[in-house]
Amino acid sequence: QFIQKYANHPTYIPPRGPELHAKNWQAEAALRMFLNNLTDEVAEAPADLVVYGGTGQAARTPEDARKIIEVLLELEEDESLLVQSGKPVGKVRTHAEAPRVLIANSNLVPHWATWEYFNDLRKRGLIMYGQMTAGSWIYIGSQGILQGTYETFAACGDRYFNGDLRHKLLVTGGLGGMGGAQPLAATMAGATFLGVDVDPDRIKKRLETRYIDKMTHDYEEAKAWVLEAKERGEAISVGLVGDISDVLEKLINDNITPEILTDQTSAHDPINGYVPNGLSLQEAKELRQHDPAKYKQLSLKSMARHVGFMLELQKRGSKTFDYGNNLREFAQQGGEQNAFNIPGFVPEYIRPLFCEGKGPFRWAALSGDPEDIRVTDEALKELFPENAHMIKWLDEAQEKVAFQGLPCRICWLGMGEREKASLLFNQLVREGKVKAPIVIGRDHLDCGSVASPYRETEGMKDGSDAISDWPLLNLMSNTAGGATWVSFHHGGGVGIGYSQHAGMVILADGTDRAERCLRRVLYNDPAMGIFRHADAGYETAQANAKEFGLEL
Ligand code: NAD
Repeated sequence: QFIQKYANHPTYIPPRGPELHAKNWQAEAALRMFLNNLTDEVAEAPADLVVYGGTGQAARTPEDARKIIEVLLELEEDESLLVQSGKPVGKVRTHAEAPRVLIANSNLVPHWATWEYFNDLRKRGLIMYGQMTAGSWIYIGSQGILQGTYETFAACGDRYFNGDLRHKLLVTGGLGGMGGAQPLAATMAGATFLGVDVDPDRIKKRLETRYIDKMTHDYEEAKAWVLEAKERGEAISVGLVGDISDVLEKLINDNITPEILTDQTSAHDPINGYVPNGLSLQEAKELRQHDPAKYKQLSLKSMARHVGFMLELQKRGSKTFDYGNNLREFAQQGGEQNAFNIPGFVPEYIRPLFCEGKGPFRWAALSGDPEDIRVTDEALKELFPENAHMIKWLDEAQEKVAFQGLPCRICWLGMGEREKASLLFNQLVREGKVKAPIVIGRDHLDCGSVASPYRETEGMKDGSDAISDWPLLNLMSNTAGGATWVSFHHGGGVGIGYSQHAGMVILADGTDRAERCLRRVLYNDPAMGIFRHADAGYETAQANAKEFGLEL
């Protein structure tokens, strides 16, 4: 009955309301968030179980999805489900304060960690690409990256444009699951925005969710719209259907130099993500299937051309940065030797936040009632009245962010703040101020949970970029601390071979058990970021370690 109502492939619907379907709220939370990842409004392609980020899936096959649901419905508080690359493989005996689900996705022994080897295993049904939050069941739609993107654009504005992005044009490629947050982040930060995507359906989805203002297939029309808006200092966003490199070439020929230039096409996957220049979507689909080696060759060549145009615009004055999709590496493989002249966004704008243990803290209201998120927003504002930046963010988000699936919120919080916020949420549940428990999680793109030398750990002060002991320690401390589900993945963001990272989600159900777990996990998790950066020699992280009494 439950399967018929909530998980009739390809239609997945998270249950809402205060009633339990599973035997306890811990399993119910995993169940609802799993279904939320796959629901129409949230997932980019639910029929393929693809949530976002190229081919990032929540379960390996529809049968595995069904089995995961069946097990979660019956899971006791002293059992934990093991998930291997989207397939439930067994249960282990644990205890009430242990994670209910232990997930490992896409991991390969390093020597074998290539897309070719991975794709072969995937074709044989042995593995699944989990991206970051797809396979760890805490993807919350484009809002999940919205604040990070907003912080990045705003930091770029602070550094180069006196904190004012009015009359500035921001150009980018890719308006998919994550990239789709760029138009709203840019307009919230005050800029005029032009985003290019080959797939019109992706842009339509952003229109429906109010992340983008306008859409066109016509370059001249898009150009006229953005140039007029820029002139007037109007923060509007335009989605143009096309190949990003063709559009950059046209901008160069028309002598238009955007002030800010970046990219979020799914370049991390040269076969199942990036669409090579000159191919229609249908042609790309067919070539992928019939000749992946040729596809890859075309993809790398196109990325080299794409980055070549970005470098030209950088020379002409565009503030250009890589946005975490491994575009530079594949452009270099395609022949663009200067690709790494473009800086990465983490060392440019985000690392100082990581040194404070800050990162993409997020939560979802399991009741399904948007009012619950409003209650949490208001409670946070009362808890941190001195944090003007956070309050501005929450006010804007309340006004401008349309929820996808279960109502949720993202808000970058640091050491100390995350623990306090989580205890407050637990209290709201205990006192019945919200209608059902709340789950708290984060992206794997966080201060202490990832090793990714072309992204989160690019250019570390002590050269420790590729050491992945850190995300493993993060996983272990969150497991030991009692997160509600934990995960360890490979290849998120930048693709197979280039990253390893850990995820965690924890339930606030108003119980004393939850309070003990929250106190441990939401202390340990941001502390890992401070340990990581203090150990690498960042002085602000060392100072923060002292301030928060972390014993280094
Ligand atoms: P997605 O697969 O949902 O969307 C990618 C989009 O790129 C698609 O809409 C596709 O049509 C478009 N595209 C592909 N080739 C193109 C081309 N040549 N020209 C124009 N458009 C093209 O992926 P996503 O979830 O939006 O993620 C985008 C990328 O960003 C991925 O590589 C992902 O790993 C990375 N990422 C970055 C961050 C970050 O914080 N910066 C976070 C998550 C993911």
